[in-house]
Amino acid sequence: MLDADIKAQLAQYLEMMEGDVLLKVSVGEDKVSREMASLVDELATMSSRIKVEMVDLERTPSFSVNRIGEDTGITFAGIPLGHEFTSLVLALLQVSGRAPKVDEKVIEQVKNIEGEFHFESYISLSCQNCPEVVQALNVMSVLNPNITHTMIDGAVFKEEVESKNILAVPTVYLNGEPFSSGRKSLEEILAEMGSGPDASELADKDPFDVLVVGGGPAGASAAIYAARKGIRTGIVADRFGGQILDTAAIENFISVNRTEGPKLAASLEEHVKDYNIDVMNLQTAKRLEKKDLIEIELENGAVLKSKSVILSTGARWRNVGVPGEAEFRNKGVAYCPHCDGPLFEGKDVAVIGGGNSGIEAAIDLAGIVNKVTVLEFASELKADSVLQERLYSLPNVTVHKNVQTKEITGTDSVNGITYIERDSGEEKHIELAGVFVQIGLVPNTDWLGDAVERNKFGEILVDKRGATNVPGVFAAGDCTDSAYKQIIISMGSGATASLSAFDYLVRN
Ligand SMILES: Cc1cc2nc3c(=O)[nH]c(=O)nc-3n(C[C@H](O)[C@H](O)[C@H](O)COP(=O)(O)OP(=O)(O)OC[C@H]3O[C@@H](n4cnc5c(N)ncnc54)[C@H](O)[C@@H]3O)c2cc1C
Repeated sequence: MLDADIKAQLAQYLEMMEGDVLLKVSVGEDKVSREMASLVDELATMSSRIKVEMVDLERTPSFSVNRIGEDTGITFAGIPLGHEFTSLVLALLQVSGRAPKVDEKVIEQVKNIEGEFHFESYISLSCQNCPEVVQALNVMSVLNPNITHTMIDGAVFKEEVESKNILAVPTVYLNGEPFSSGRKSLEEILAEMGSGPDASELADKDPFDVLVVGGGPAGASAAIYAARKGIRTGIVADRFGGQILDTAAIENFISVNRTEGPKLAASLEEHVKDYNIDVMNLQTAKRLEKKDLIEIELENGAVLKSKSVILSTGARWRNVGVPGEAEFRNKGVAYCPHCDGPLFEGKDVAVIGGGNSGIEAAIDLAGIVNKVTVLEFASELKADSVLQERLYSLPNVTVHKNVQTKEITGTDSVNGITYIERDSGEEKHIELAGVFVQIGLVPNTDWLGDAVERNKFGEILVDKRGATNVPGVFAAGDCTDSAYKQIIISMGSGATASLSAFDYLVRN
């Protein structure tokens, strides 16, 4: 099951195990069962700390990872390789006694949770958003005996996935009921369970010199530049990491040949935490007001004050805004082809949008699904010609240009899409199981209202120093009217805004 490279890596990790671990394995005669049995055997031969017992578990094939004499509640239903390989390694290490790399405060929070919580996470092995959820729920199981977690590979347990009508991963069930969908950190899961940070802790904070709103590449860069000046710096973010959390491969972050978004997000967080920066994650700003100081009010009611503010709230997927889109979100309407593509294996899907992201999505999906239909509003695709050539070389892709999506139809989940041919006005309907919306991004600036000047797209207007029309308020990254939206550009503009904020503080 394991190639030489992975085995070599694994051997190093297994040496770090601190105690014995018992794998309870439930396998049958099917192919996946045989592969799972072979993986477990390999693990046991690689470390004398790993013991194996054959049992009957709720799902076959599956195996649980336990302390000797005590079940932890961690079960893998499916083979945790691919993106879940790290989840397997961490489960083995943590169950063996190695402390998880999590803040002490969060560990205490998890230990103090009362009641029985049985989580089930439905994943696909190609989903790069899934491991964070799997690993967070495993940590919770390791720390609290009343919490269990089973990772379920949707490709192995197809009937279960279909009966629950799961069309997006990761999807998490808690005690048999839907709990959450999409990427979630441990802190986000705790907040969703009602165990999040307290508003009163935030409300009592002293004013900042620089308060950064937004924790993507622009915000992280702005905060680090500010902290390096030795001034009181805070960063408030709805979801630390920003868009790169949803990005697969990054190959244009200069000096790093190739990385993955979540990995870069983890490095950003580590770098920010190296400095004396007050990081307030999972907090959403809802109002900015300039008084003597600048006030940022959060959704939870707390008001933060600062002498200067850097807005770096980035952007989010643009919705197509037709009937059916909101109703069938995660029930056939998807935005992340890398994550959700495998759930449409063998089915027909549409991609709305003929720009680079739409055509990249269509090419990716064509390798998994039965048929891809691309719908483009304009009379020509806007994607780079190299992508178009690749697209048109694929046998299972149809492109409709000059068409307007009218409705995404369905009952419990998507069953089709209706569009209008703009030339003739004729209405057409295609039966399909999924719609991937890829029509660009919209800036996260609605919450600002008229407090700061924005253009007709909602982008914050900035000068070459990153200054907005409000003295002391600066902006950077994808939320601004910068010509291009890229990681390296966002980081650069975060640095510019931060140096300008420092200059402003010196002069005022
Ligand atoms: C699928 C995909 C692939 C991409 N691939 C690449 C690539 O290969 N190379 C590349 O250079 N770029 C790529 N990009 C673009 C790149 O990710 C963005 O340009 C970059 O992340 C912008 O950084 P930012 O900090 O300005 O905004 P974001 O990354 O959007 O971060 C915004 C931050 O603000 C927070 N926030 C939003 N609203 C609020 C609020 N009201 N209160 C508090 N916090 C808030 C968010 O939670 C987040 O922390 C890709 C983007 C996508 C979506």
